[in-house]
Amino acid sequence: MLDQSVESDFSEVFIIQKETSVFLRKSSPHERSAKLLKLRSWIKKNQKEIQKALWNDFKKPEVEVDLSEIYPITAEINHALKNLKAWMRPKKVNTPLPMAGTSGKIKFEPKGTSLILSPWNFPFNLTIGPLVSAIAAGCTAIIKPSEFAPATANIISKMISELFEPREIAVFLGDVDIASSLLELPFDHIFFTGSPTVGKIVMKAASKHLSSITLELGGKSPVIIDNSADLKDAAEKIIWGKFMNCGQTCIAPDYILVPTELQQEFTQQCINQIQKYYDPTFKGIEASSDYARIINEKHFNRLIQLLKDSEVKGAKIEFGGKFSSVDNYLEPTLISNISMDMEIFHEEIFGPILPILPYKGLHEAINLVNSKPKPLALYFFGSNRTHQEQVIQETSSGNVVINDCVLHFLHSELPFGGVNNSGIGKAHGYSGFLEFSNPKGILKQRIGFNNVTLLRPPYTLKTKQII
Ligand code: NAD
Repeated sequence: MLDQSVESDFSEVFIIQKETSVFLRKSSPHERSAKLLKLRSWIKKNQKEIQKALWNDFKKPEVEVDLSEIYPITAEINHALKNLKAWMRPKKVNTPLPMAGTSGKIKFEPKGTSLILSPWNFPFNLTIGPLVSAIAAGCTAIIKPSEFAPATANIISKMISELFEPREIAVFLGDVDIASSLLELPFDHIFFTGSPTVGKIVMKAASKHLSSITLELGGKSPVIIDNSADLKDAAEKIIWGKFMNCGQTCIAPDYILVPTELQQEFTQQCINQIQKYYDPTFKGIEASSDYARIINEKHFNRLIQLLKDSEVKGAKIEFGGKFSSVDNYLEPTLISNISMDMEIFHEEIFGPILPILPYKGLHEAINLVNSKPKPLALYFFGSNRTHQEQVIQETSSGNVVINDCVLHFLHSELPFGGVNNSGIGKAHGYSGFLEFSNPKGILKQRIGFNNVTLLRPPYTLKTKQII
């Protein structure tokens, strides 16, 4: 149960933010940019503190913090600073013939009050990224970071309280109880990043007030290795994309589909790559400071259980499998011999286990992908352009990446997000700005000018002829 004082606190903040949001409708690109600039400068000044927080939460390596928590945010801010004026500028539209004499434009009005609920896996990036879009669009925001990355949640709270008045942006720390209570409020927009299961709860809560939603969810992102792939190149990219953040990435490759005849060679390439990245001096991967840990005991136990269930049902560990509960360490693990009765075939893995499945023809790989809920990302490796196009055309996913993985997250010009089970709405750059905006259509008519005189009653034969 939520402490009554906390509940009244955030209800009060919500009411004040509602008032602020009316003023913010008129905010200029310059005013919004000033807020983004102070956010960027705080992040740069406190980079070490942010790194420390993520190390405390799950031993996330410094370089990975810079690359996947800080850089995406500063890049997102820079992109918004460069484009905000153009994004906000009302867009004139063409005038269709029956509307001759009128003029039409689209004005991007801030939706108003927004709620940002974020996960633990990229706890800084996935909280502040949506905030950048909210600020760019001119919205107020209440933020609830994940309780499972408490050090990062604290630093986010510190940053926001130093930079913004709660009437504009406020952070509330806590767990499901606080998230549930926040979801009772009639926000204009809710931006949720997390699991599909909780996404459904958020959508249901939003329906009470018909708040608009962005749902950035998860799922099983497949990799298709084509027979035209360069296996070494593919392994280099996949192993990095998979095991960065200890596999706890929404767009991490979840499983690999590889032509039967290439499976052995591809698996060996993956093993070589794991050793090259995480054990170059043969001291053991556990000693590597470049390899993170599982966030908590609950997720650690879930992953060990997934692995055990697969082994019992006949899966073969091709590499890894060692673990230690002392600090939730699980070695990068490759498994094969996967069958449909294994939980690992169905559940989003969200950890450092990578199943490798053989397929016979490309249609078989495509059918397997299509038999599952639409993924957040789909990766294809191969030079065969016909196959590339076939996969793009015949599958549905939030994003597709050809001959790389995970990289699309950093592309500020591409919409990022899922489709159906993997999400609703898109984030980043202009797409993020649009999520927090209401594209308001404005039609201007001239006094005394009437396009539709002939359509007014009393209706005549001429009226019918016009229609
Ligand atoms: P989660 O859904 O458990 O939690 C996310 C947020 O929702 C947290 O702030 C949490 O406190 C809150 N929450 C949890 N239960 C709730 C409830 N019953 N009612 C209201 N709020 C609730 O997700 P997680 O475990 O933090 O993150 C992992 C999931 O997020 C994975 O499925 C992953 O794929 C997904 N994810 C998606 C993206 C993306 O951009 N699409 C990015 C990162 C993670």
